[in-house]
Amino acid sequence: MTNTEIYELLVNKIPKENILKNESMKKHTSFKIGGVADFFVKVKEIDKIKYILKICKENNIQLNIIGNGTNLLVKDSGIRGIVLKIDMDNIEIEDVKNYNNTDTDRYVNIIVGSGVLLAKLAQILLKNSISGFEFASGIPGTIGGAVKMNAGAYGSEFKDIVVETTCMNYNGEIFKINNKQHKFEYRKSIFQNEEYIILESKLQLKYVDNIKIIKEKMDEYKRSRLEKQPIDFPSAGSTFKRGTDFITAKLIDECGLKGYSVGGAQISTKHAGFVINTGTATAEDVLKLVDIVKNNVLQKFGKNIELEIEIIGE
Ligand SMILES: Cc1cc2nc3c(=O)[nH]c(=O)nc-3n(C[C@H](O)[C@H](O)[C@H](O)COP(=O)(O)OP(=O)(O)OC[C@H]3O[C@@H](n4cnc5c(N)ncnc54)[C@H](O)[C@@H]3O)c2cc1C
Repeated sequence: MTNTEIYELLVNKIPKENILKNESMKKHTSFKIGGVADFFVKVKEIDKIKYILKICKENNIQLNIIGNGTNLLVKDSGIRGIVLKIDMDNIEIEDVKNYNNTDTDRYVNIIVGSGVLLAKLAQILLKNSISGFEFASGIPGTIGGAVKMNAGAYGSEFKDIVVETTCMNYNGEIFKINNKQHKFEYRKSIFQNEEYIILESKLQLKYVDNIKIIKEKMDEYKRSRLEKQPIDFPSAGSTFKRGTDFITAKLIDECGLKGYSVGGAQISTKHAGFVINTGTATAEDVLKLVDIVKNNVLQKFGKNIELEIEIIGE
C-alpha cells in the first residue's frame, strides 16, 4: 500500500491536523535522534484508535505506539507506517469510601488516561494532598509508557500503585487487567509480550494531612536528579538495566568510559549509565557506543549488560 493510500484511509476518520506526514522523530523523542515516521498520528478517542488498528490489520500497515518518547531510540532511517500517540488525558480522583478521622490509611483511587504526563499528574496529586506518587514526579514519561516499563525510582515502582489497567487488543476489544495480570518485573510487564494498547490505569494512593510532606519529597527527588543525572542533555534516561548483582553504571565507570564518545553520542561524564546526545548524535553513533560499552564490561567483569531503552524503526 502506498503512503498516499494510507493517508486517504487515515483522513476518512482522523482530523487532518492530527496526522503528520514524514514527521521527524527527533521532535518526539527525548534523545532527539531518529529519522522520519511516514505518519505520526495523535488520537484520544476509542473509536479512532479502533479504526487505526483496523486499517493497519487489514492493509498490513506497520504500527508503533508511542507515549512521550523518553525510553526510545529511533533508528536513522525512521519508521514505516503509522506511529500512534495515544493522547488520552482523563484524570479522575475517586474516593474509596468516606473516611473517619481515626482512619490511618485513607486510600484513594485515581483513574488516569495513558497519555497523561507523570509530572502533570504529580502536580495535581500534590494539590489534592495525595501521596505515593512522588517517586514518579521526575520521570519524563506518560502513564502508558510508565505502566509498560514498570517505571520506578527511589525505591518505588508502578507495580506498587497500579490497581488495574484498561487495555485494547489489536482486534479492538477492550478489557481490564488487575495488578497481578500485569506480570510486573524490573522495567518489564505483560505489555512487552502482548500487543495491547494501554487506555487508562487505576492507581491506588493515599490522602495525607500535611501537603508539605509530599512537596518536600518531590523537591528532594528533583534535587537528587539535578545533581546526579545529565538532564541538561538529550537522552533516554538510563541506557542500560541495573544488573541483578551489580550496578551497571559503576562497572561502565570502572572501565574508564565516562566521557567516551562515538560521533555525537557520549557516555555522560556525570553518570556513566546515561548515553547522551551532545548535539549531533545519530542512532548509529548510539548503537556503536552501546556495543563498545557492552564489550568492555564483558571483557573486564564478565558481565552481560542489557539495554533498558527500546530501539524502534529501521
Ligand atoms: C532524563 C530521563 C530520566 C528518566 N528517569 C527514569 C526513572 O527514574 N525511572 C524509570 O523507570 N525510567 C526513567 N526514564 C525512562 C522513561 O522516562 C520511562 O521508561 C517512561 O516510563 C517512558 O514513558 P514514555 O511515555 O516516554 O514511553 P515511550 O518512551 O514513548 O514508550 C516506551 C514503551 O511504552 C510503550 N507505550 C507507551 N504508551 C503506550 C500505550 N498507551 N499503550 C501501549 N504501549 C505504550 C511504547 O510502545 C514503548 O514500547 C527516564 C528518561 C529520561 C529521558
